[in-house]
Amino acid sequence: MDAEEFRRRGKEMIDYVADYLEKDIRKYPPLAKVEPGYLKKLIPEEAPGEPESYDDLMKDVSNVIMPGAASPACTELEVIMMDWLAKMLKLPDKFISGGKGGGVIQGTASEATFVALLAARNKMLAFLKENHKTGEDKELIGKLVAYCSDQAHSSVERACLLGAVRCHQVVSDDVDEMRGEALEAAMKEDKENGLIPFFVVATLGTTPCCSYDQLLEIGPVCQAEEIWLHIDAAYAGSAFICPEFRPYLDGIEFADSFNFNPHKWLLVNFDCSAMWFKDSGHVVNAFNVDPLYLRHEHEGKVPDYRHWHIPLGRRFRSLKLWFVMRLYGIKGLQQHIRKHVSLAKQFEEMLKSDARFVITHKVTLGLVCFRLKDKSNDINAELLKRINADGRIHMVPSNSKGVYFLRFALCSSRTELPDIEFAWSVITELATNLLDENKNYE
Ligand SMILES: *Cc1c(COP(=O)(O)O)cnc(C)c1O
Repeated sequence: MDAEEFRRRGKEMIDYVADYLEKDIRKYPPLAKVEPGYLKKLIPEEAPGEPESYDDLMKDVSNVIMPGAASPACTELEVIMMDWLAKMLKLPDKFISGGKGGGVIQGTASEATFVALLAARNKMLAFLKENHKTGEDKELIGKLVAYCSDQAHSSVERACLLGAVRCHQVVSDDVDEMRGEALEAAMKEDKENGLIPFFVVATLGTTPCCSYDQLLEIGPVCQAEEIWLHIDAAYAGSAFICPEFRPYLDGIEFADSFNFNPHKWLLVNFDCSAMWFKDSGHVVNAFNVDPLYLRHEHEGKVPDYRHWHIPLGRRFRSLKLWFVMRLYGIKGLQQHIRKHVSLAKQFEEMLKSDARFVITHKVTLGLVCFRLKDKSNDINAELLKRINADGRIHMVPSNSKGVYFLRFALCSSRTELPDIEFAWSVITELATNLLDENKNYE
């Protein structure tokens, strides 16, 4: 949708809401007169391959959403949209609604990790009690250990802090990926010290360098120990809708929960973080308090999402997914991902053509990590400082195993090749100046 159409559609939407307030509001009963599951019969089971028209979408808003105004439509569209998305990612059937599993929209990946941790904590406490481990909850919680790689996002450490459990950061290998053996060794060491492993977060597409923890090794370790495996693919997850990137998700069958942010790379506005459980019973058990004023006659027929996350009230965020998936179609969304990856590859080629630079990590998606070759961390940090002070482009650095590097990240849906060429010209100009000034230093 270009700016011109956006302007027009935006004005139409204001009229739609104003018409509702002026003419229609009293036509609708306060409680929607629809049966649980009504929406499933009105919406296809899968996302469209090709883009659909905005007018068709708005017709459906009137015909299928408005009769279920307020909660039923909000819950049911979310169930169906999370199934659409799960099918686009080719998630195992266990994550699709109908059985014990299913998806829910959280606000952010940080919340998803925290919710998964709390569910896993509750599951482990129940298991320990069944197996006659005596002690108060707080004593047992003090022995629980969560695991992630040293490349995991800071939100994992924070989830542990909030959940009052220990966080063991496993040392990643030389390409910054967590390996099964290292995880196993970390757990063994903790168990020998009387601690109880209960939760592992594997990251696909780490924030510092877009590395991928080895799911096919980590999964069996978690399975053997009956430990909850959560997968954080906040950034990279969007790419897995393309068959050529889906192999990064191999091993997903071992996961108890999986999360990625359509608001990061799938053209959905903030906030929209997609999370799936293999067995939602664990999170429901952990979060269920059930006062009388929240009971209703349809319990058990559709997910009670209030037990799947921290807030009670919820926004109608699935509308964003519905609009985006239909307006772009699977094809359009794949094209968007491929365009970014191809621009990142072109930037990589520019770096490769200049012997002063070296690429520090494999370029798999839209992130390119690099540094000045054979130069100290200080000089590289100075280059980044100058780039950001210059102000024409902006970059964020990282550091892995003592090596400082610059990160070129493609984020905007509007980025085109000339923008990449422009960024490259800024980087080379500032690097030339810096290297000239530092000729006599390392
Ligand atoms: C961005 C990111 C996060 C944090 O996402 P929020 O939705 O802002 O909480 C967590 N993990 C990874 C791997 C990320 O890329």
